[in-house]
Amino acid sequence: MSLRKVLIANRGEIAVRIARACRELAIPCVAVYSEADRGAPHVAASDEAVHIGPAAASDSYLNADRLLEACVRTGCDSVHPGYGFLAENAKFAARIEQAGLTFIGPPAAAIAEMGDKTVARRRMTDSGVPVVPGSGGPLASAEEALSAAERAGFPVLLKAAAGGGGKGMRVVERAPDVARAFDAASREAGQAFGDDRVYVEKYLENPRHVEVQILADRHGTVLHLGERECSIQRRHQKLIEEAPAPGLPREVREELGNVACAAARAVGYVGAGTVEFLLQESEFYFLEMNTRIQVEHPVTELVTGVDIVQWQLRIAAGERLTLPDSVADPVGHAIECRISGEDPYGGFLPSTGIIRGLDLPGGPGVRWDGGVVVGSEVGLDYDPLLGKLIVLGATRAEAIVRMRRALDELALNGVRTTIPFHRAVMDEPDYLAGRVSVRYVEQHPELTESGAGWPADAAVAVAAVLEHRFRDMSSPRTTLRAASMPATERSAWQRRFEADE
Ligand code: ADP
Repeated sequence: MSLRKVLIANRGEIAVRIARACRELAIPCVAVYSEADRGAPHVAASDEAVHIGPAAASDSYLNADRLLEACVRTGCDSVHPGYGFLAENAKFAARIEQAGLTFIGPPAAAIAEMGDKTVARRRMTDSGVPVVPGSGGPLASAEEALSAAERAGFPVLLKAAAGGGGKGMRVVERAPDVARAFDAASREAGQAFGDDRVYVEKYLENPRHVEVQILADRHGTVLHLGERECSIQRRHQKLIEEAPAPGLPREVREELGNVACAAARAVGYVGAGTVEFLLQESEFYFLEMNTRIQVEHPVTELVTGVDIVQWQLRIAAGERLTLPDSVADPVGHAIECRISGEDPYGGFLPSTGIIRGLDLPGGPGVRWDGGVVVGSEVGLDYDPLLGKLIVLGATRAEAIVRMRRALDELALNGVRTTIPFHRAVMDEPDYLAGRVSVRYVEQHPELTESGAGWPADAAVAVAAVLEHRFRDMSSPRTTLRAASMPATERSAWQRRFEADE
């Protein structure tokens, strides 16, 4: 069995990444694009492209009918969903299979089981995998939430059963706050996932997020490719990832790997997946399994030499996994910085605009997985991830030096980005020492205070220029003027303008 032609049901950097894997395996691939993505890099990266609707994701990348029509029209026999959009939608996976096509991912049943966190927790407990202490299942009322919280002990976290992307989560410190948090989390979960069920977990105070990359073939082989450290986050979403996790004792790594394989086996997993854990001291707890390729897969690729996306395609085509056991032993150290169109000095809120300039870093040990080019419009319809900068060094220290150099070479103008935040982290003593936890960003406010990453005199100079420009601006003119301003200036201007309004 082999794949004849792959439909890439996604956009941005991951669609480009999948197209590259298809090219290297000599499998033709078809891109889909919304009205907003005419001329996008993922379209150019594929052999053919099909227009699937307007910019709104619900009318294009989330529209299963359109995607199936595109498969039929172009003669695709398989669909790669990437991440986000329909990647973890069991109904979509089932529809693809029912249409006689191959879904490049796990069986729909495995997606469904792992997609409901309360079911996944039960399955893991049954297979002897430790889970974060908390309620057995979803909670029917605020009263039930309160008793579950009291059993787990405060502080607790209310979480959406269907959760993802950090949505529908509320930390609750005290009993009187449970009812309100329950209502808010249920409402947010209902809006985000069409499923308002929430459950309670003990809120761990200072854990690390460590996850294990899994590969499983259709013939019963399950193996892992070692772990990634993903603790540096904002709004419970990752910003920086690395492999291996710094300072993790060998026994813990091995145990995590074994437990992750057991978790995958428990649901009959096939394909690439990630089992996520919270690690506190040397105790670890299952958090969830992501049944898809992850944003941060390149760090694992760099330290193992395994092309995970190619393996997704090969596994879908029925190939057997032929990797040696030693594949999980990392060679070197890799770090990834997510370069997003967000303002790190404005609460990481999205920054929109048109990319006016893009200088990419190069040289030894540097990889750029990007989804934008000069002229790309960064809007609010999609995830703000613009690209990923990934480096490999012989040691963690060498990788950090390399990441500094690569970040200094990377210039992206037109929107505010996370670049200066990453650059500041690469000099921060706790990060350098590997002292990270999921609360790292909150514990280091200096990294996100306005002016961080700027030499003090440069910040003063920009402020003076802005003062001058603001003086006699009326709003229509300023909009025009703002569009031609460098991103850093424009964002400061936007903030000021919004405050004035
Ligand atoms: P999502 O599926 O929305 O991404 P996860 O369950 O994967 O949610 O958790 C995302 C992040 O939220 C974790 O990496 C961690 O930072 C935080 N988190 C989740 N559960 C807990 C918990 N029980 N205690 C402390 N932090 C948690």
